[in-house]
Amino acid sequence: MKHSLAIQEEITLFKKTIEAFAKKEIEPFYNKWEEEGMIPKEFWKKLGDAGLLCVDLPEQYGGIGAPFQFAAGIVDEFSRLGYYSISGNLAVHSNIVAHYILNSGTEEQKLRYLPKMASGDFIGAVAMTEPGAGSDLQGIRTTAVPLPSGEYRISGSKTFISNGQNFDFVIVVAKTNTAVPAAKGTTLFIMDAESPGLTKGKKLKKIGLHSADTSELFFDNVIVSHKQILGEVDSGFITLMKELPRERTILAVGACGAMEGALAMTIDYLHEREAFGKPLSNLQVIRHKIAEMVTEAKVNRAYVNHCLALLAENQLSTADASIAKLSATEAQGRVVDGCLQLFGGYGYMEEYPISRAYTDARVQRIYGGTSEIMKEIISKDILGK
Ligand SMILES: Cc1cc2nc3c(=O)[nH]c(=O)nc-3n(C[C@H](O)[C@H](O)[C@H](O)COP(=O)(O)OP(=O)(O)OC[C@H]3O[C@@H](n4cnc5c(N)ncnc54)[C@H](O)[C@@H]3O)c2cc1C
Repeated sequence: MKHSLAIQEEITLFKKTIEAFAKKEIEPFYNKWEEEGMIPKEFWKKLGDAGLLCVDLPEQYGGIGAPFQFAAGIVDEFSRLGYYSISGNLAVHSNIVAHYILNSGTEEQKLRYLPKMASGDFIGAVAMTEPGAGSDLQGIRTTAVPLPSGEYRISGSKTFISNGQNFDFVIVVAKTNTAVPAAKGTTLFIMDAESPGLTKGKKLKKIGLHSADTSELFFDNVIVSHKQILGEVDSGFITLMKELPRERTILAVGACGAMEGALAMTIDYLHEREAFGKPLSNLQVIRHKIAEMVTEAKVNRAYVNHCLALLAENQLSTADASIAKLSATEAQGRVVDGCLQLFGGYGYMEEYPISRAYTDARVQRIYGGTSEIMKEIISKDILGK
């Protein structure tokens, strides 16, 4: 195992290549994509060609077997650069969906999906949330009924699904046994986008993350082969729970990148902007505010790095990952709000990237488990149920 400092140095170099890629392939187009409300599919192919998808998958499945810290570094860097729609949807694809398949899929499923996910030919999504079930997934109503042929017939609907327009396949959480609580009667299915009866609903309009496509999905008697079951029948919740530490940590990583990017642009602005005859950066109240916010960002970064190191060793608990998610995303909310304030009226103008940092940050405390649910998990771990 490499010393963590050596890994940090390599990640710093890796991030430089990501920055160069972003300068060429994202910066000229990002505002247009945000206006159009869509990251084009061809861009995913460019990510794949540049080796920026699924880097931590083993080589036989299209990755380069890099430590998870490198995969996290991609989300981190895109967040720092202010491309939050990309970092969010890429995290779903590379850090969530690919790992479900890697850790719970059959060999056939791994070979069918993972290399194409790494190349950007396939985009993945995961559909848990329903109109009537978000925090409480026990309330899901989508059903998968076994047929004599061995296939399953899936009916129901999902909402708020990231990559909901662009995906080539989606992992669907459905009840396979309605007689028992969902925790014991739920199964995951890999559903291909062209499956008859699957409809991608309208692209939802959001207050931020405009180019990250988020959609409803409808399943009208979709027939899925038993070969498309991911993990064990009726054990979907166990499969989902195994991946929670990774999902929560990656959201915390994005929060750290976003805070650092917002602070960097704010510090530059404070040196340039003058009031009362001197740069804003000379005013003590502002200097203290920056000191406070940088402290918050650095302390969160240290804890998130600690979680990443534990995750790489498979030692990270769901409660500790929830602490990272809760702390880093709440800090992100405070920091981007504080940064925007220091831009004055300009901070409220769309032309200034800090405004996007602000609107795009809001969802971080909601998706991947809300802050309230994080507190439930953490308190149960400390105090018992
Ligand atoms: C942009 C975006 C992208 C998303 N992407 C995906 C995706 O790709 N796949 C997917 O499956 N889902 C996705 N989601 C859904 C997301 O995970 C849910 O919105 C989230 O889990 C909250 O569920 P909910 O919206 O139903 O809120 P609810 O569960 O209805 O919660 C409403 C409020 O009640 C609080 N609350 C609920 N239960 C408790 C409790 N026990 N104690 C205290 N407070 C509680 C919540 O914290 C919240 O403040 C996405 C959402 C958004 C906005």
